[in-house]
Amino acid sequence: MATQIHPDGYAGERQIMVASQLRGRGIRDQRVLDAMARVPRHEFVADEYREQAYEDHPIPIGEGQTVSQPYIVAVTLDALSLQPSFKVLEIGTGSGYQTALLAELCREVYSVERHAPLARNAEATLARLGYNNVSVIVGDGSQGLPAMAPFDAIVVSAAAPQIPTPLFEQLREGARMVIPVGPPQAQELQLVWKQDGRPTVQSLDGCRFVLLIGGQGYSSSSW
Ligand code: SAM
Repeated sequence: MATQIHPDGYAGERQIMVASQLRGRGIRDQRVLDAMARVPRHEFVADEYREQAYEDHPIPIGEGQTVSQPYIVAVTLDALSLQPSFKVLEIGTGSGYQTALLAELCREVYSVERHAPLARNAEATLARLGYNNVSVIVGDGSQGLPAMAPFDAIVVSAAAPQIPTPLFEQLREGARMVIPVGPPQAQELQLVWKQDGRPTVQSLDGCRFVLLIGGQGYSSSSW
């Protein structure tokens, strides 16, 4: 867990973000709300975007990718019922912002990113902020991380054409995954729950994510 987050000039903006964009729109898990009030989102975007860091929209992070809108991150984390003892898998590290939140909320975080420059940048930011319970891996996360399975929760931050079977298999019994599923233009954010070895799927919200590119995702020529 992070121990080096100091008060900064954006604490007030974070409080407003939590109150108006998150609690005000139905996010209930107090641990998620507290973590989002703590983690300095402005540290995960380029200088030119810092002043927008707590606004209600995604922000470009390079390589044609974005850090997701705070509300969608909060819906995702809220739905997972994350516990401090959890070992979790994140697919799509991006800037590392959601990774930092997972590191605040869980014991151990494995995060896979296909773009090496994003992975290295996120790793450096996370280390600078004092997170020491995170491993960032470069690769095709649509296949999961079988060597470290099973996971207590899985978060997929890129849109898949369907729920990737290897990811479902890497959930422990009773565990949850949140994943955007659907065509490139618009998807459904789905909560997938493994019960008696089978998936129970609930729709959380409509959304539009960048694509999951890989063996269990879209091909790189899809966009
Ligand atoms: N959660 C991230 C954050 O807080 O900045 C934002 C993630 S961004 C919406 C989606 C990320 O998924 C991109 O960085 C993209 O490169 C990555 N991605 C897409 N396909 C992937 C795959 N097969 N394996 C790993 N990462 C992938």
